[in-house]
Amino acid sequence: MSTATARSTVPFSRESLELVLKRRFFFAPSFDIYGGVSGLYDYGPPGCAFQANIVDTWRKHFILEEDMLEVDCTMLTPHDVLKTSGHVDKFSDWMVRDLKTGEIFRADHLVEEVFEARLKGDKAARGVATEAKEDEDKKKRKKKVKEIQNIKLDDDVVTEYESILAQIDGYSGPQLGELIVKHNITNPANGNALSPPVEFNLMFETAIGPSGQLKGYLRPETAQGQFLNFAKLLDFNNEKMPFASASIGKSFRNEISPRAGLLRVREFLMAEIEHYVDPEDKSHPRFEEIKDIKLKFLPKNIQESGSNELSEVTVGEAVASGMVDNQTLGYFIARIYLFLIKIGVDKNRLRFRQHMSNEMAHYAADCWDAELQSSYGWIECVGCADRSAYDLSVHSAKTNEKLVVRQPLAEPKVVEEFDVEIAKKKFGPKFRKDAGAVEKWLLTRTQCELEDLATELKDNGKITFSVEGVEGKIELDTEFVNIEKKSKSVHIREFTPNVIEPSFGIGRIIYSIFEHQFWARPEDADRGVLSLPPLVAPTKALLVPLSNSAELRPVVKKVSEYLRSEKVPFKVDDSSASIGKRYARNDELGTPFGITIDFDSVKDESVTLRERDSTKQVRGSYVQVIDAIKAITYEGASWAEATAKLTPFESQSGDA
Ligand code: AMP
Repeated sequence: MSTATARSTVPFSRESLELVLKRRFFFAPSFDIYGGVSGLYDYGPPGCAFQANIVDTWRKHFILEEDMLEVDCTMLTPHDVLKTSGHVDKFSDWMVRDLKTGEIFRADHLVEEVFEARLKGDKAARGVATEAKEDEDKKKRKKKVKEIQNIKLDDDVVTEYESILAQIDGYSGPQLGELIVKHNITNPANGNALSPPVEFNLMFETAIGPSGQLKGYLRPETAQGQFLNFAKLLDFNNEKMPFASASIGKSFRNEISPRAGLLRVREFLMAEIEHYVDPEDKSHPRFEEIKDIKLKFLPKNIQESGSNELSEVTVGEAVASGMVDNQTLGYFIARIYLFLIKIGVDKNRLRFRQHMSNEMAHYAADCWDAELQSSYGWIECVGCADRSAYDLSVHSAKTNEKLVVRQPLAEPKVVEEFDVEIAKKKFGPKFRKDAGAVEKWLLTRTQCELEDLATELKDNGKITFSVEGVEGKIELDTEFVNIEKKSKSVHIREFTPNVIEPSFGIGRIIYSIFEHQFWARPEDADRGVLSLPPLVAPTKALLVPLSNSAELRPVVKKVSEYLRSEKVPFKVDDSSASIGKRYARNDELGTPFGITIDFDSVKDESVTLRERDSTKQVRGSYVQVIDAIKAITYEGASWAEATAKLTPFESQSGDA
């Protein structure tokens, strides 16, 4: 909000925020009256409006601004697609089980929780130590010292815990198992021993069709649908590169133990971009526009050294030093930052954390997460990865469909390439109906694969491979096939694009904004305010008639009609509650503006405009007031700019 706000010093209380979110029905557990199911939530009216506004802003900020190609793909995905993408084998987390009660924990989260609690205990103990020294009461002092002795950690243990926590996202299952044994980690609730970590695949499995033969999954991300449509999208884009596709839709993950509200759920809205770029040129034409933005980075080498220290540098410097792999990745990191700030994320509680080497997928060139800090710690809310050519290559190899870009060269170029020569005449008699499939398989191998095949042919005199849909192993010797590196003059450059993938979890962002923008009025800690930016606030204005006198109704009607015609989302509150109470209710809903209609309004159509955060009020004609609301909400004007022509107004309602 552009006006000076008087954020209070009342400490943040997650409990108060949760009460407000529940009372105002931003969201609530699904199937509540049946007892609910962990990790599933329904959004109520203000939650829906807030989410819709964030999605609308996302569309404008990314899809429209960058001319991206939006697709809406099905959530039901056949097994083969997710087997090829690697999700069937690798999309899993590690879980441990309480050996007595069977209670299940996500292994990395449990280790994190236990170390953090132990460190907190230690910090508390150090606090108690100072207190104890000053304490006059000997008995009390003795007790406190005893407490300290019980929980105090040695300095080297503190260092070890902190170092483990800094690298917690990089441990494998067996490594987590070792930590659990070494540090004597048990079920925090009862001290019971835990099983070694076992892998749990997060995808929801289903059967497509009545026969149950076609195994499928609810998609765990929207990306695969975009990759599978790559050739159509490239064609739609008139073969022009680089370009991006985008998709907004639900994804599903069977989280092991979802316990952090909207931050860890089993069904969530994702907004994902797949930006296809030339692997030999990852510069970005608009990099200049964002290169001077300064961000807080947490690079991998710092985490690997056991530290969490942030380095604050410009995106330009981060790319120039090689910390961020390339300009396109840097460009998207900056654009993610600008988007998050626009919708209400506190920039001081946003950092970009690089994946450590053992955390990053083997094919990825670089990966940064936008993490937002909340009372749950630092949580990944947007992932931004350079996935190299992995996705398109694996789907192409599996389906034998070329997912490549073909660019005419200005001048023919002599290149050294592996080439496949097939003795076609011999294929028919040998493979009969399968001849075409085998031939297609050979002709759609990448240069890397051809290099391996050429070596195999040279070393063994034959190559052995399988082709989808063809029974048994296929063996071919040099009588049938020849694979050799040859010089040839090419007129077309053919390449598999690399993919830069910014991937947003909308629910996580929404919850973090709630925490970043919730505060209590200093004069009354029970009066919570959600300072949602006007652009994304569920409702922009609350229309409040001073009383429910019939005399005011025609003005309420007139102002409502004008707001509607100007497309400003508003609500009327003509309940009998005091004005102060009605405004307090709307502060909780994050409504940035109040319009008060009183008896003077009947005379001259003037109304009062109240700003939520500062509770400042100004007076003017309703048209002027609504113009000011529109200027602030949609044009980014400041309060001072938008209300310059309005008259300051002293509140008579006791609202402050
Ligand atoms: P990932 O593909 O794991 O990098 O996830 C992409 C984004 O999806 C993350 O940055 C999160 O914002 C969001 N996300 C992932 N898992 C969950 C979950 N269980 N609940 C809510 N959001 C999630």
